[in-house]
Amino acid sequence: MDSRGFREAAISSIDEIIKYYDNITSRDVVSSVSPGYLRQLLPSSAPETPESWDDIQRDIEGKIMPGITHWQHPSFHAFFPCATSYPSILGELYSSALSGACFNWICSPAVTELETIVLDWLGQLLGLPECYLSTGSTRGGGVIQGSASEAVLTAMVAARDKYLRNTLPTPPAEEEDLLKGGLGTLGNAEGEEYEELLARKRSRMVALGTTATHSSTKKAAVILGVRFYAIPVGAKDGYRLTGEVLKKALGELKKRGLEPFFLTATLGTTDTCAVDDFAAIADTLEEFTGGEEMNGDIQGDGGGKGEVWVHVDAAYAGSALVCPEFRGGITEVLGRFHSFNMNMHKWLLTNFDASCLFVRDRNWFIQALSVNQAVYGNAASAGGLVTDYREWQIPLGRRFRALKIWFVLRSYGGAGLREYIHKTVKLGEEFAEMLKGRGGLFEILTGPSFALVVFALRGKTPEEGNVRTKELCERVNKSGKMWVTGTTLDGRFAIRFMTGVRTTEKEHVEMAFKMLVEVAEDITQGA
Ligand code: PLP
Repeated sequence: MDSRGFREAAISSIDEIIKYYDNITSRDVVSSVSPGYLRQLLPSSAPETPESWDDIQRDIEGKIMPGITHWQHPSFHAFFPCATSYPSILGELYSSALSGACFNWICSPAVTELETIVLDWLGQLLGLPECYLSTGSTRGGGVIQGSASEAVLTAMVAARDKYLRNTLPTPPAEEEDLLKGGLGTLGNAEGEEYEELLARKRSRMVALGTTATHSSTKKAAVILGVRFYAIPVGAKDGYRLTGEVLKKALGELKKRGLEPFFLTATLGTTDTCAVDDFAAIADTLEEFTGGEEMNGDIQGDGGGKGEVWVHVDAAYAGSALVCPEFRGGITEVLGRFHSFNMNMHKWLLTNFDASCLFVRDRNWFIQALSVNQAVYGNAASAGGLVTDYREWQIPLGRRFRALKIWFVLRSYGGAGLREYIHKTVKLGEEFAEMLKGRGGLFEILTGPSFALVVFALRGKTPEEGNVRTKELCERVNKSGKMWVTGTTLDGRFAIRFMTGVRTTEKEHVEMAFKMLVEVAEDITQGA
C-alpha cells in the first residue's frame, strides 16, 4: 500500500468507523456466533498473493462484525465500560504511525516527557496528593501500564523488594543481586547463608486483599510466588474492608508467623463498587507496624520495620475523582499509601489501554525493576536526568499511549470529563429510582454507586429469588438487546447494571428497565 492507497483506505475506514458509531443501535449488543465461527469463514492459510483493500475492508462487516460484542453500544450495561472517544481514537492513529519501542528516554524523548506531563495533569485532575506527581516533594510520579493487573503486579514487585531491603540485613559485599533472586557467587558460604535467609523470609510473606478484591491481586501473588490471603468481607460491612476486620486478620496472620507486606485497598470493587475504609486502613496499619515489631527475628538495615505497602486499586471508580464531591475520605488518605492505579480506559473516555499507575517514590519501582543490559545503556540514562520508563514496568518496549490521553484531556477539558461522569452517575441513580418504583418486584442489593446498581428479583424464598434472578439475567441477555452481568453476593444471585458507557442516554436506561420489568413479570406470573 503506498501513500495514495493509504489515504484512500484511511478515509474510507474513518467513514466506516463513523457510520459504525452513528448506527450502533441497529445492532444487537452481544454477539450470537457459535465458538469456532470464524475458522469456517476464513481460508486455512494466509494469501500468497496480495489482496486489495476493498476486499479486506469488506470482510470487516461480513466476517468480523458478527463476532463483535459492542462495548460502545448504549445498551451495554455489563461489567464496567471500556471507553472510547474520537480524540482518543486519533491518539491511537498517531501513536501507531509513530510506532517504536520507547523504553528509554532517548528512544523518543517526547514519548517519555509527554507521559510524565499528562500523568501529572491527570493526577491534579483527580485531586491526588502532590506526592504522586513527578514535580512533588517525594520523587513520585505516574506511568502508563497496559492494565490494572499489570499495575498491581508492578506495585507488588516493588513492595516485595522494599520489604526485603528493609527487613533483611544488607547482603554480603558483591551479592546485591541476591535480593533480586540471583544465585550469588557459587562457593561463597556467606552468600549461600544469605540465600537461605532470603528464602525463609520470602516463604512467610503474604499479600492481602479481601474477598471483594479483584482477582488481579491474587494473580500477581501467584506470579511472584508469595502467599495471598483474602480477608472475608460481606454485606454487614457493605463488602468493604474496615479497620477492625483488617486488624483481626493482621493479628491472626502474625500468630501464624506470617508477614503481610502488601495490601490492595479498593476504590470501587468489581461486584458492587464498594470503597474500602481508607482512613481506618491507614490507621490500623500504622498502629500495627509502628507499635510493634512484626518482622520476626530479623533486624535489617531499615531498622527491621516491614511496612505494609498499600496499593489502591481504583481501576474503574478512580475516574470519578475528577469530580471533587467523590473525593471525601479518599484523596486525603492517599498520601499515607504507596501506589494508586486507575484505568482511563474504563471510565474516562480513553481507549484501551491506558492504565495510569502513580507511585509516591519512583525509586521504589526503579530499585526493584532496573535490570541492566549493556545494549540499553546510553549517555542520557547515565547522566541521571531522564526517566527511563522501562524501569517502572514489566515489559521492556512500550507504546506512545500518552498521546491519546493528551488528546482526551485537551479535547474534553476538566469540565467535559466532570460532565460525562456526572451524566453517567445520574443515569445510575435514575435506574435505581425506577427499581424502587417497582419495589414489589425488585430489590436493590447495593448502590447506586459510581453508576452501578446491583439488584435481584424477589422470590418467596432466597432460593426462589436466585432462580428467578438468574432466569431474568439469562433471558434479557439472550435477547441481544442489552447486556448485564450476573454475580453472587453472600450466596445471592444478583444482576449488575452499569450506566457508564459514553453513548448511554436516559432513553436507553428506560428501555432496559421496561424490558427487565416485562421479563420479570413473565417469570413471576409464570411461577
Ligand atoms: N480492578 C478492578 C476493581 C476491576 O474491576 C478490574 C476489571 O474490571 C481490574 C482491576 C482489572 O482490570 P484490567 O483489565 O485493567 O487488568
